[in-house]
Amino acid sequence: MTALDLPDFVSRHVGPTDDDVASMLQALGYADLDQLLAQAVPGGIRTGEELAVQAAASEPAVIEELRAKASRNEVLTSMIGLGYYGTHTPPVVRRNILENPAWYTAYTPYQPEISQGRLEALLNFQTVISDLTGLPTAGASLLDEATAVAEAMTLMRRGSKAAKGAVLLLDAQLLPQSIAVVQTRAAALDLDVVVAELREVTDPDGLRAAAGERDVFGVIVQYPGADGVIADWRALVTAAHETKALVTFAADLLALTLLTSPGDLGADVAVGTCQRFGVPMGFGGPHAGYMSVRKGLERTMPGRLVGVSVDADGAPAYRLALQTREQHIRREKATSNICTAQVLLAVMASMYAVWHGPAGLRRIALDVHGKAVGLAESLLAGGVELVSETYFDTLTAVVPGRADAVVEAALQRGINVWRVDNDHVSVSVDETTTDEQLAAVAGAFGVNAPVPSGGELDWDAALVRTDEILTHPVFSAHHSETAMLRYLRTLADRDYALDRGMIPLGSCTMKLNATTEMESITWPEFANLHPFAPATQTEGIRSLITDLEQWLCEITGYDSVSLQPNAGSQGELAGLLAIRGYHQARGESARNVCLIPASAHGTNAASAVMAGMKVVVVGTAPSGEIDMDDLLLKIKEHGEALAAIMVTYPSTHGVFEDTISELCSLVHEAGGQVYVDGANLNALIGLARPGKFGGDVSHLNLHKTFCIPHGGGGPGVGPIGVREHLAPYLPSHPFAEELTGETGPVSAAPYGSASILPISWAYVRLMGGAGLARATQTAILSANYIAKRLGEHFPVLYAGEDGLVAHECILDLRDLTRESGVTVDDVAKRLIDYGFHAPTMSFPVAGTLMVEPTESESLEELDRFCDAMIAIRAEIQDVLDGVVPAADSALRHAPHTAASLTVDDWEHPYSRRDAVYPAGVDPLRKYWAPVRRIDGAYGDRNLVCSCPPPEAFED
Ligand SMILES: *Cc1c(COP(=O)(O)O)cnc(C)c1O
Repeated sequence: MTALDLPDFVSRHVGPTDDDVASMLQALGYADLDQLLAQAVPGGIRTGEELAVQAAASEPAVIEELRAKASRNEVLTSMIGLGYYGTHTPPVVRRNILENPAWYTAYTPYQPEISQGRLEALLNFQTVISDLTGLPTAGASLLDEATAVAEAMTLMRRGSKAAKGAVLLLDAQLLPQSIAVVQTRAAALDLDVVVAELREVTDPDGLRAAAGERDVFGVIVQYPGADGVIADWRALVTAAHETKALVTFAADLLALTLLTSPGDLGADVAVGTCQRFGVPMGFGGPHAGYMSVRKGLERTMPGRLVGVSVDADGAPAYRLALQTREQHIRREKATSNICTAQVLLAVMASMYAVWHGPAGLRRIALDVHGKAVGLAESLLAGGVELVSETYFDTLTAVVPGRADAVVEAALQRGINVWRVDNDHVSVSVDETTTDEQLAAVAGAFGVNAPVPSGGELDWDAALVRTDEILTHPVFSAHHSETAMLRYLRTLADRDYALDRGMIPLGSCTMKLNATTEMESITWPEFANLHPFAPATQTEGIRSLITDLEQWLCEITGYDSVSLQPNAGSQGELAGLLAIRGYHQARGESARNVCLIPASAHGTNAASAVMAGMKVVVVGTAPSGEIDMDDLLLKIKEHGEALAAIMVTYPSTHGVFEDTISELCSLVHEAGGQVYVDGANLNALIGLARPGKFGGDVSHLNLHKTFCIPHGGGGPGVGPIGVREHLAPYLPSHPFAEELTGETGPVSAAPYGSASILPISWAYVRLMGGAGLARATQTAILSANYIAKRLGEHFPVLYAGEDGLVAHECILDLRDLTRESGVTVDDVAKRLIDYGFHAPTMSFPVAGTLMVEPTESESLEELDRFCDAMIAIRAEIQDVLDGVVPAADSALRHAPHTAASLTVDDWEHPYSRRDAVYPAGVDPLRKYWAPVRRIDGAYGDRNLVCSCPPPEAFED
């Protein structure tokens, strides 16, 4: 089938035209795509028939279908709270970040020289978090509040000197979904969790008593509590520290503008969500989780940390800090598996703070509090008892036996409030709450309409915040529309994203997505749903979720899918927990060994550790394939203890291993389960199905294969597919009774990052079965075309027996580096001068570059990239020939900034022109790097992770 026979949209998504495909095939020596694929993909795993997903629809038709689904959602005013609040996204932020491909199509800032804009935005984020929580070091986002709480648990276990066997103590007013996620994760690690009422605990004995007379390694409290109550935790913190326990505050950011900070109260760690800083509820996500820590804990934090360093000219420059620590997610020594996080949402939240500034945020918080005070006064005047006199925005009313009636009465008035139990109802006020809504809530309780108070703080003076917040000038400089727009534009202009050109990052599948796929995510019908709203109000998004689950089953060959995990790493954990649950249910809980090939992505081993498994590495054969002899040995060695193998298919070496079926049978025969890491599904869709060639479970990355843009390092969605026997062990959720799995939740919300699912839904709907297969075929063709063109200049490290690769290829620079001194780093940075983002560097093999073009790049762009790489090879030749010393080559000095050219004395053996317009670079398309090469080690020695003062940038 040619693209001409396919729906219109397919030819817009797939870069190469029919003619291009013909000439690429010719270059490779194949008559047609079928012939190429017959050679490239092992016959044993091929599926014959076309995918049975709905026939493709046009872009306007898909938008119509989405509108129909959206209209089936009923957007009431949700005053449920529990970590999700109404918020006004500043339109300037919505349009210029969330809807701007310069921000949403960027990749994780591993190449810091081309990522200065988003790194600055993330540094602003870290500054906001650090300031508001009163703790010195904050990371650049976690996945959501509940998983951040779980990360705090393991961080405290590492940081506490309490004896082995000590327990984690949770306050009963921690958000219920956080408690549930912590319990899921703790069970896998064999950590005991005790939930208790902690507000009355004031000394070490009380703490021990609350923990059932056991030692405690960590305590986690909600601030303010789920019931809205503001407690003074000082005495508890002191008691905990006296018993060697660490303390984490799960804190509300908006409340922190008015409340004494966790840091001031002695907290070791603060975690939470940034949702109400301008990010819509979106039926549960995505939103940025946050974590900050006190001094001494910064080097054990999960997730990424942005720091300040210097470039080759000594100018300040941002980059990811402590990356060697991350390198990457340190396998079996891992402390966390987080890779993709929530960068785009963290950027939005940071800009909400930049837009409003310290005074604006306080004004919003005071206004919210004033509305809560007004409502409280009406309730009290009407004879309704409240559980507490000190609250920020949430009131819990005592309504003996009447909770259902109150909830129903509120519903009648268009408002969702929260039924805590038969006798209690809670209501949360937010910045969007109107006087009419307050009156309606009061009406539901049968009391008079409230009059919002002027915003006096009426809580204990010891908990009134007195220190200044957000004093850095960036939070005061951009309050006009003009200033903000220009600030956002300035930052975006510093970065290289898919809106400028190809990002050939192996393993990351940087395909460009269509605007139509993005359109619906900001519609209020999807954006403004509370994840715990009654199911009757969310039929539209639920039917979209059901469609997507069914299509993913069809595509992968699995029987059930869970969309709850909000990144690939979380899917891995959920999948391994399903395996664990399965073994346990069969009385085989001794099975705890997870085999992982040496070439696996770092998250695999980290997830296995988090699932309570023991990692055993299987070696690589010289061909790059899994060493089958070693596999047999390891299977034999671990016998009855074998729980699973995690394999990536096609492998991270970029080849289709034809031993995959044999591997699966061997592991199954030994009683183990097969986890197929599906991050490389872009090489399989429509050609082969992991659920049919031997996998028991896989995660997919919707942010790779299914067009959710990378957002500069998140959001992501990492659903898992499982075969029938594992379906009973999929994640459940305390507030979603339809999720009946026996494993607890792995995300805060039942459907994780639900509000971006319409992107993947639209992609499948627009492509149809044949279109999806066409994308896969083209991705494989393009990778082979690149391997063929570049193979003459840089050896391709691994290929199948027929010399073909899968959807990516590894270029081996190690010999060249040895002979010339030119490193992969030099090549990666020199590509910036040529107008490219580097391929993946030194993964999975040090000293190599892994190239993945994806189907969405045109032949012209593939050729432009190949031409650049070939020109760079010629520059290396000059070094080899002794014409240019490596240390003074354009390669080593790359990237070249405009400032670096304008020096009076140019003393390099290459011209200024060759520095910035090397071979074939079109001056009209030139991307100028804003900084020279960054010295990462300097920044790691001098760790600075919040905004440096403006003086740092002088001269
Ligand atoms: C990207 C990737 C992952 C991790 O996915 P995240 O969403 O970043 O957590 C796991 N395995 C492989 C092979 C990957 O490429």
